[in-house]
Amino acid sequence: AASLGTLATAFDVRLLAECASTNSELIDAPPADDGRIAIVVTDRQTAGRGRRGRLWQSWSGGSLTFSALWRFQPGAPVPAGLSLVVGLAVVRALEKLGVEGLQLKWPNDVLVHGDKLAGILVELLPGRGRTPAAVVGIGLNLRLPAGASIPDQPGVTDLAAHLAELPDRSALLASLLAELHALFETYAAAGFPALRGAWQQRNAFADLPVRVSGEGRELDGICAGVDEDGALLIRGDDGLVRILSGEVSLRVR
Ligand code: ATP
Repeated sequence: AASLGTLATAFDVRLLAECASTNSELIDAPPADDGRIAIVVTDRQTAGRGRRGRLWQSWSGGSLTFSALWRFQPGAPVPAGLSLVVGLAVVRALEKLGVEGLQLKWPNDVLVHGDKLAGILVELLPGRGRTPAAVVGIGLNLRLPAGASIPDQPGVTDLAAHLAELPDRSALLASLLAELHALFETYAAAGFPALRGAWQQRNAFADLPVRVSGEGRELDGICAGVDEDGALLIRGDDGLVRILSGEVSLRVR
């Protein structure tokens, strides 16, 4: 893991007591590029987003909610597999804290034994003459309030259910940033192929019958992992199909 000193020079961390969405903070007002990864953390996110306009819920004191601004080379292709890399960083940080049963669900969920623990939302920022960038949002359930109800999610969990003692939020954030830093470095140097094996080891749906739905279509098949671009591979009756877009949902049949 990176030392605290390395982290301090690698990241520019801004703390907000409250905001609508940490992703929106970075999208609407991206800080000037000084070579550091900009981070916005908030204690209270009032309008967190998921994919396709869905809501991400969080609770003051019960969630860790933050976003990172990741800049990539002008002219570079869209950073393939980025949301998968972020999921892997979250899993690795939590594994080091002793959480067992962590899994990744393509493209962007972190599960524990099938229940959703964290969500990740990657949004691309067009270059507009500047370096193109991606904003990476992470919402992690620390302790769900009693009676919390989350629509459309079969199973939800929190970190408190999987650790004897919750780490304090700044220590947890530091572990997550250290892991993000390490994986961003690998990803920048070698791309998603360098991390594909590690992702597949934690694939929640590996070799299971699944249904992919969205964008007006449905596809049934066996989940055959991800390819070198982070695209989902489904083995159906007519052979292997690649699913590139994240705008679809994946379910076990
Ligand atoms: P799926 O792949 O399961 O269809 P998704 O990956 O598209 O979901 P996201 O867009 O990442 O989901 O997140 C939004 C969804 O996550 C919401 O519709 C809700 O069901 C669920 N959700 C919202 N807040 C939380 C939370 N704190 N913990 C777990 N799940 C949540």
